[in-house]
Amino acid sequence: MATKPILIHNALVWDGTGAAAFPGQVLVDGKRIATVAPATESLAADGATKIDARGRFLMPGMIEGHSHITFMDLSIASDLGEIPPEEHTLGAMHNARKLLDAGFTSACSAASAKLRLDVVIRNEINAGRIPGPRMLAAGPEITVTGGLGDADLFHVSRNSFGMVADGPDDIVKAVRLCIREGVDIVKINISGDFSVPYSSDLMTVMNEAGTRAAVEATHERGKRIASHSRAPLSVQRALEAGVDIIYHCDHADEKTLDMLEAAKDRVITGPAFGNIVNALAHWEKLNTPAAVERAGKLRRLFDNSCRTHAEMRKRGIRVVIGGDYGFATNPQGTNARDLEHFVTHYGFSPSEALQAATRIGGEIMDIGDELGLVKPGYLADLLLIDGNPLDDVRILQDRRKIRMIMQGGKRYKG
Ligand SMILES: [Zn+2]
Repeated sequence: MATKPILIHNALVWDGTGAAAFPGQVLVDGKRIATVAPATESLAADGATKIDARGRFLMPGMIEGHSHITFMDLSIASDLGEIPPEEHTLGAMHNARKLLDAGFTSACSAASAKLRLDVVIRNEINAGRIPGPRMLAAGPEITVTGGLGDADLFHVSRNSFGMVADGPDDIVKAVRLCIREGVDIVKINISGDFSVPYSSDLMTVMNEAGTRAAVEATHERGKRIASHSRAPLSVQRALEAGVDIIYHCDHADEKTLDMLEAAKDRVITGPAFGNIVNALAHWEKLNTPAAVERAGKLRRLFDNSCRTHAEMRKRGIRVVIGGDYGFATNPQGTNARDLEHFVTHYGFSPSEALQAATRIGGEIMDIGDELGLVKPGYLADLLLIDGNPLDDVRILQDRRKIRMIMQGGKRYKG
């Protein structure tokens, strides 16, 4: 039996485009938005279930652009490898629900700790058997020996979230394996990271041949590829090879920013900044030599990320929120903090931060169905909020203020 249309009236409608919010009403029919109209217009909505929004803020569901639902709020990445697949699957299922509870109706994964975890959770969500954001599944991070995600020591084999592959042939095989097992997004680590001893965030460790091979193998199978790129050269390499989603970009210099700007209609970026903010606060509190060293690297990253993203904002380069949530200092479900960081540290207006969480998120999802705006024809992923996030984006961090969560026309909460 077809479900009855739903009319949400008496709302303050913010549609995600950046236009001002207005008193209005939204008619949802099936899984899509049918009509968006000002409050003064009389809508033919006979037979619709009516929801009186009581003046609350109606906005698109948020989209987490760099999610890791398989990260279990641990401190040490190689502890992920210690989790048996059974517990890990259930843990990822709980994390998916936490994201939806926090108002995230979609999520683009930036890597899965085990190859099929994202895939199986995505499939269960799509089948309507478990709650969670509509999700793009990724595989583990394809990385070179000694790169971010290679948790091995010479005397002991360990896993975290990486899949080690050196050279074009191995990398192509890893890409093909991920796609065979059902991922939507392939992830490669072109730069190192602040957390890795001999592949730092300033180093570009996946070579050009390997990067190009990964992109070609992904695209020839009709999938998209994302990269971990902190160092300037690693961003340039991603751009030249045709990577679709370039994460971090922290240390981008003038030349790199020019290249990003030239590719801005094709490429989407995301800083994954929440983790940096909280990790920096954590390590700066400690006084051991190792902590001081780690804090120093994070401070450099923090400062450069702020500088880079203030510049990217000016140049109109598309940036999504999503902050590597899933570490002990940066737990799952607190993802809406990213909006505050964009405003406080990157100089985004609240409207721009909200657009990064909605409209641009819809563009990174690119699932064929349109989402991320309150607009006729778009999927009815909607939130009703107590208070106005355009005055203070921190409101979205308080789950009690999210009074309704609708996903594909179905009310999950409220
Ligand atoms: Zn990440």
